[in-house]
Amino acid sequence: MNDQSLKVDLSSTPWIKCQGGNMIWETSMLFKRLSPLMSPSGKEELIPAEVIVCKKCGKVPKFFSDAAKGIPDELKSTCHLLASPDKGLIMDK
Ligand SMILES: [Zn+2]
Repeated sequence: MNDQSLKVDLSSTPWIKCQGGNMIWETSMLFKRLSPLMSPSGKEELIPAEVIVCKKCGKVPKFFSDAAKGIPDELKSTCHLLASPDKGLIMDK
C-alpha cells in the first residue's frame, strides 16, 4: 500500500483531455419536462440539469456521463480519457 499524503501537488497532475486532444469543456443545460400530472404545482415544469460538453465534439464526455446517470446515448461522446503517458494512468489497455 502506498501511504501517500493527501496533499496533492496539482502542478504535476495531467489535465483531462478527450481523444481529439481537446482540454476545454463547457457547461450546458438539459431540461426535463415534468408533466402537470407529476408536478407538485399541478403545472408543467421544466427541470434543468447541468452537463459538461467537450468543446471539440460538443458531446458529453465519458467521465461525466459515467458519473451522471441518465445522459441520453446520443449525447455521449466517444472521447476517452487520456492521461499523460509519463504518469501511466491509462486504465484500459
Ligand atoms: Zn470530444
